[in-house]
This record gives sequence, structure tokens and C-alpha cells, in this order.
Amino acid sequence: MQEPFENWAPRVFMAREDAPLGLYFHVPFCHHRCTFCPFFQNTTREGFSSEYAGLLRRAVASMAAALGKDRYEREVQTLYFGGGTPSDMEAADLASVVRLAREQFAFSPEAEVTVEGRVRGFTAEKARVWMEAGVNRFSLGLQSSDTRLRRSLGRLADREEIVRNLNALSELGAIVIVDLIYGLPGQSLDMVREDIRFLAEETRIDGLDLYALKPFPGSPMMKAVQAGRLPEPTDAVGRGQMYVAASDALAGYGFEHFTPQHWRRSARERSAYNRLAKVDADILPFGCSAGGHLGPVAMMNERDLGRYRQRIEVESVPAMMMGDPANVGYGKAFRLVLADALEERSLPPLDAWPQVTQGLGAKLLANWMAAGLVEAQRGDELRLTRAGCFWASHLQKLLLGLVAGSASAG
Ligand code: SF4
Repeated sequence: MQEPFENWAPRVFMAREDAPLGLYFHVPFCHHRCTFCPFFQNTTREGFSSEYAGLLRRAVASMAAALGKDRYEREVQTLYFGGGTPSDMEAADLASVVRLAREQFAFSPEAEVTVEGRVRGFTAEKARVWMEAGVNRFSLGLQSSDTRLRRSLGRLADREEIVRNLNALSELGAIVIVDLIYGLPGQSLDMVREDIRFLAEETRIDGLDLYALKPFPGSPMMKAVQAGRLPEPTDAVGRGQMYVAASDALAGYGFEHFTPQHWRRSARERSAYNRLAKVDADILPFGCSAGGHLGPVAMMNERDLGRYRQRIEVESVPAMMMGDPANVGYGKAFRLVLADALEERSLPPLDAWPQVTQGLGAKLLANWMAAGLVEAQRGDELRLTRAGCFWASHLQKLLLGLVAGSASAG
């Protein structure tokens, strides 16, 4: 059995002084379930916000006590409120958690502090209060700008509301980004192009993420597809065409293709949390079902709200822990080197791949280059092409599979 968190965490925390540090707050409540979503957990109900904010403040205080005074020796680079729908929380409740986190940890002056949410209810009044507490970035799950398609997803706001809310947030001076999904049942290539036109011309967003639909079996959407009430989601060829169409349109509007899934219009948008969460950063998790890691130990907080409430009363971090804190001194694993490189739209140079993979790895790489997924650039840099960006998560899986296979064969 693993030692209690407070016994090993301060040592590991300080042993990783140079690793970036982030805080992740999970808010597992939504007004209602979106039809495509596998993450829905709890429906928002009267009073949830103040009660949950109380739990989060308690979690911050416990984590701070467990890490001790050394926690001020490392600067927080990013704080992220994800969910669920954090924007459903009351303004003062969420602000109180941000304030406490800022008191209990040392924040970099450039720290990115994000609140995620959906368009309906994400008002300028709330945003102003959150910005006064130190929030500087808002991320909205738009998915599509087509009102009919949005309603089939369970998203209620129409275009007028989208423009009004997004532009009101930009007006406050915050960084505003949105998520779009492509490959949805009933979505056409023209609808995807129109999403980009609409966002580029009618809003002042700083960036956007493009995600391919993951059709989760058992989701309300896939049940409707099976029952014939919705057409099949777009196939891989169609998704590829949508990705190309969106990325051409974004380039035409001057957006920079920043990571495989992310584009930005201004350099002040850094997507710091998404980038750090995938690389060798420490992410401390707060709240029911929040996940994170500290050095070699992955942490997953209790998923059931009732049990989370009970455990936070007695434990500093009510999380399942995986990994051995004693491994903190080991070098960076290849999976992190790879994740780092992919975030930069590249692959690590072949001589950085594990020794055992290098024979097969060279062949694999030659195939990927012949297929137009990767191209060699200055020196030994291996740059992902646009097709490589589209397939980035598959390339990552294949390469990690090769590493695992070569290691067990070797
Ligand atoms: S708001 Fe987000 S987490 Fe909630 S049901 Fe919709 S997609 Fe899922």
C-alpha cells in the first residue's frame, strides 16, 4: 500500500522544481446532458454551486497543508476549471476558489487562468467577477455554430446569443477560445466552412480547437443513430476533408496552426494548460473526479460525489494513486518526449527514440514520410504535415505500441 500523500508529496514536489506546475479544478455538473457527451456526471441543482465551492476550498487548503511551505518555491503556470460546466457556478463561488488558490500557491505573473463552460449562461457579469479574482481566459464548448445542428446536440444558444456572449467576453479583455467538433451526424463540409467564417468574421475569438467526433457507444447521439433518428456520423474520409477545409479556411483568416488540434489568432493565446497537461508537468487535481499527477504518481480523485465529500473530510487528497514516488529521479520517459514533440507538431529525432525501436522505427518513419505524414526539416527536425496533424493521435499510439512491443521482445 502506498504511503499517505503528505508523507511523500513534499519531497517529490521539490525534487521536480524545474517541471512546470498546474492546478486543475473539476466541476462535474451540467445543466443537462449534451447528446454526444461521455463525460456527463451530475445535473446542476439549486445550491450546488456554493456547496461545491466549499468542497473545492477545502481541497485547496488540504493540498496546501500537505505540501507545506515548500509549495511557495514553485510557480503555478496554469490553473484550469474544467468539467462539466464550470460556467454554471455562481460568480462569487468560483471566484472564492480562485482567490484561495492564488493565496495558497505562488503564481507566475504570466499564469494562464482558464474557466471553461458553454455559451448559455456564460455572461459578462460572471466573467467580470472571475477576472477580478485573476481569471484571464475563457474556453467555450461551441461544437458548431449551426443552430439546428447545435440543438440536435443539446446546445440551446442560437447565433445571436453566441455572438453576444463571445464578444462580451472579448470586450472585457479576456482571451477567448472555443471548441468545434467535426464529423457530427448531419454536418456537411459547408457547415464546417461556415463555422470558421462565422467565428473569424463575426467574433473576436483568440483561438479554437478542432476535435473529431468520437462516437461513444451508448451516448444519446449514438442511440438516435441506431434508431434511425439521426444519420451516421461522418466517416474517416469525410472527417479528413472537413479537417482540411477548416484548416484552409483558418489559414485564410490568418490563424496560426499551433498544435495538431489548436489554432490561434493572436500570440497572447498560449493554450498553456492543454499543452502542459500532455507533457512532463505536475498537475495537482482538485474536486470530484479530477485527475492529475505529481512526478511519477498519477492521481485520480474519487468519482462519486457523495464519497468524494466524505473522503475530503479526512484525507488531504482523496485520490487513487498509481506509480511509485521513489521513481522521481528517473529521466523523462519516451512517452513524454513524444507528447512534447507532438504538441510542437513534430516527432522526436530518431536518435531520441528508445534504442530497441531504432531498426523498425527507421522503417516506420520512412513509411510515414512516403505517406506524406511527416517531413524532414532543418537538421534532424521531423515535422508533422497537415495530414500528420490529422492523424497525430494514431501516430502516437502506433509509436508507443512499437516501443512497448520492441521492449517486450527485446
Ligand atoms: S456541458 Fe460538457 S460535460 Fe456537460 S454534458 Fe455537455 S459536453 Fe458533456
